[in-house]
Amino acid sequence: MQIDKIKEYLKGYDGEQCTIMEVCGTHTAAISENGIPNMLSDKIKLISGPGCPVCVTVASYIDKLIELSMLPDTTVVTFGDMIRVRGTEKSLRDVTAMGASVKMIYSPFDIIELAKSNIGHNFIFAAVGFETTTPIYALIVDELIKNKIKNVKLLTALKTMPEAIMAVAKDNDKITGFLAPGHVSVITGYNLFCDMAKKLQIPFVVSGFSGQELLSSIYALTKLKGGQSLNMYTSVVTNEGNIKAQETVSKYFKPCDGAWRGMGIIKNSGMILKDEYKDFDAGSESLTSDSMYNSACSCGDVIAGKINPNNCPLYGKVCTPENPQGACMVSTEGSCFHYYMNKRL
Ligand code: SF4
Repeated sequence: MQIDKIKEYLKGYDGEQCTIMEVCGTHTAAISENGIPNMLSDKIKLISGPGCPVCVTVASYIDKLIELSMLPDTTVVTFGDMIRVRGTEKSLRDVTAMGASVKMIYSPFDIIELAKSNIGHNFIFAAVGFETTTPIYALIVDELIKNKIKNVKLLTALKTMPEAIMAVAKDNDKITGFLAPGHVSVITGYNLFCDMAKKLQIPFVVSGFSGQELLSSIYALTKLKGGQSLNMYTSVVTNEGNIKAQETVSKYFKPCDGAWRGMGIIKNSGMILKDEYKDFDAGSESLTSDSMYNSACSCGDVIAGKINPNNCPLYGKVCTPENPQGACMVSTEGSCFHYYMNKRL
């Protein structure tokens, strides 16, 4: 169907109420940037799920990074968003002013050159992310071993999507369809989401990231029933996924229980370095506690799609991108951030 017809259909849709969850932070951003919520009928509601890696990271993980950043001869290395997320009390940015050593990098492999040119100094890499980024961390461990680099460790908070999606779906009977995570699907393959659709009896569509692709996928989700699914991102998503990346990950990592902000521990929803590679781990094992900086922050409910960001009592008043109280307002993939930037009050 032509895109104009799809737009017309979605704006005029008057069928059963649809509640569609996207579970990819990049989809959250693309939906917002393309103004898609305004292109839909009131009977199609889009909600964001646990797809932003920074947003789902628990406070004790940030606290541990802060603790490590204060050690002598040690630098915590991370990407931009993580620096501004508060743990129980402070963020990495806050403690930098108190003498902590924190460095932002733009490419994960920068850590290799940093380590090589600073022998005797320790680097802790904040390794967060989903199936998409875990292969990169596996390749980094591979490089560390090949180059006999001993002064880098990873503090991991790596997650896998299927178990979290299952948990969200079981807890929210309003969801009528899922936009499967596009980048994650490239690694895991489409078959995984076919199986999930059947298990949950909720349709899944693997979608690309352009406005047109997203509208077409939403259109498909209004048509599919029960355990049906569709791959609408066939240019990069195969049925089996990226086998080489999957093998690289399983060489170095094993599944573990994952701690999700506001959602608690979800069994087998995390990845951690295997015992034989523990020399490269900075103490990731027990980072599960999640007492938030601001106890009124409702990130957990936002991540689980139970409320919209503007239902949080702090939204837009106490919590803004300039003064974020929770991770969902910090991250450029966070739904609170995108709600705010689009002036959805
Ligand atoms: S608006 Fe701020 S305080 Fe409220 S849920 Fe979002 S990030 Fe947390």
